[in-house]
Amino acid sequence: MDKDRSSQAPPHVLVFPIPLQGHINSMIKLSELLALAGFRITFLNSDHNHERLVKLTDMATHFARYPGFEFKTITDGLPPDHPRTGNWFMENYVEVIEPKTKQNLREILLNISPPVDCIIGDGFLGFVLDVGKDLGIPVICFRTSSPHGFWVYHSIPDIIQAGELPIKGSEDMDRLITTVPGMETYLRCRDLPSFCRAPDMEDPIVKLVFKETRRSTQANALILNTTEELDGPILSQIRTKCRNIYALGPIHAQLNTRLKAKHRDPHDHFSNTLWKEDESCISWLDQQSNRSVIYVSFGSITTMSRDKLVEVWYGLVNSKAKFLLVVRPNFMTGEDSEGEDDVVRELLEKTKDRGYTVQWAPQEAVLNHPAVGGFLTHSGWNSTLESIVAGVPMICWPYFADQQVNSRAVSEVWKIGLDMKDVCDRKVVEKMVNKVMVDRKEEFAKSAAEMAKLINQSVNEGGSSCSNLDRLIEDIREMRL
Ligand code: UDP
Repeated sequence: MDKDRSSQAPPHVLVFPIPLQGHINSMIKLSELLALAGFRITFLNSDHNHERLVKLTDMATHFARYPGFEFKTITDGLPPDHPRTGNWFMENYVEVIEPKTKQNLREILLNISPPVDCIIGDGFLGFVLDVGKDLGIPVICFRTSSPHGFWVYHSIPDIIQAGELPIKGSEDMDRLITTVPGMETYLRCRDLPSFCRAPDMEDPIVKLVFKETRRSTQANALILNTTEELDGPILSQIRTKCRNIYALGPIHAQLNTRLKAKHRDPHDHFSNTLWKEDESCISWLDQQSNRSVIYVSFGSITTMSRDKLVEVWYGLVNSKAKFLLVVRPNFMTGEDSEGEDDVVRELLEKTKDRGYTVQWAPQEAVLNHPAVGGFLTHSGWNSTLESIVAGVPMICWPYFADQQVNSRAVSEVWKIGLDMKDVCDRKVVEKMVNKVMVDRKEEFAKSAAEMAKLINQSVNEGGSSCSNLDRLIEDIREMRL
């Protein structure tokens, strides 16, 4: 590429996430951190998501404060009326998304001005490495999933070769997996990423996850949304495969800290959500006593049958806690999802005095509200980090991907919550909620507060994540020279 600009010009970085909420969240926040350092940023959104963000958020006003911050759009390869629910991304990746997006990315990079100095590509989009190599642009991969998830994905071929996969039915679920270095003492079959439950290891999704994970270690460097303090032992393992790792998270906390340092209101951050946040739950929380409410949310992808939701709801109602429940549009699946509004309305009506339900919450604000004492979560990596930073103990009920291993780390490694995976029973939900909110409340509150302190220190000046972000900024500047 022709680089005829003055060397005084800021580096130009193109940031390209997978078109899913959790990936956009952390990658847009990293982009803002780089913009704060004076970089020119092009953020590449899918057409579909961009349209939603423009409608729902104040993105134009927010990013106007960063000269040189630009949004561009790219196809996700699917028709506009595709529902894009559940695991739509993986299901369409090989056949549609990769070929169409790859071509479009090449065109964008060839025509962009000024030229791009570095691409920060979603670590799941291995083809970005090919395009970067072709055009002579360095690529840094950002894996937005947890390091635990990344390391297990990376180890899948070794687990298969050792004969520890496939899983031999439900009676085999508590067997320890011994071939993932660093996790020998706590990783069971049931804690492996959901894809490993496929009876056949030739399953296209297993193969895809494995292939893309190994590819991301071929990038110039790897960004991970974590800290040394949280994931040090696993990071040491990952470094044996990819030496240059920037562990610079939790990114949302890092951004809040840097905005504060610039005397900007940390709450004045860009809310990049793809659903409209219902702020009324904050007024409801204002009326509740300290640490009396369990917040219940399963992220942006999880879907659930009506039966399961009803079990969760009974468990909550029968527990001793109040609750704030998020039921996203299109959350309920299957034949029994018809008339979902009626079900939700009925539940709402019956529990007005005990709980509050919204379609989408301002999650960071909710988790930092003094009334919230626990989080019943699907263990998505962003939600887990947001809960850790806010010092809120978790009850984990993982749905898919890295969530199974995240919930194991929360309960067994960090000891800041309980793991409820694979059970959906109102009695169990009730018992778990009571444990975290009443019986073992002080114990969990203490361990979560200690963890929060440690992790928050890492994003302050002199902390490990803060230094790793500075190193990333310097390294990208050098690419420009
Ligand atoms: N989120 C939100 N409001 C909600 C539910 C979720 O803002 O009501 C945000 C949450 O703060 C997190 C993201 O959506 O940043 C979900 O990402 P995560 O990695 O936890 O799970 P995923 O959606 O990818 O399964």
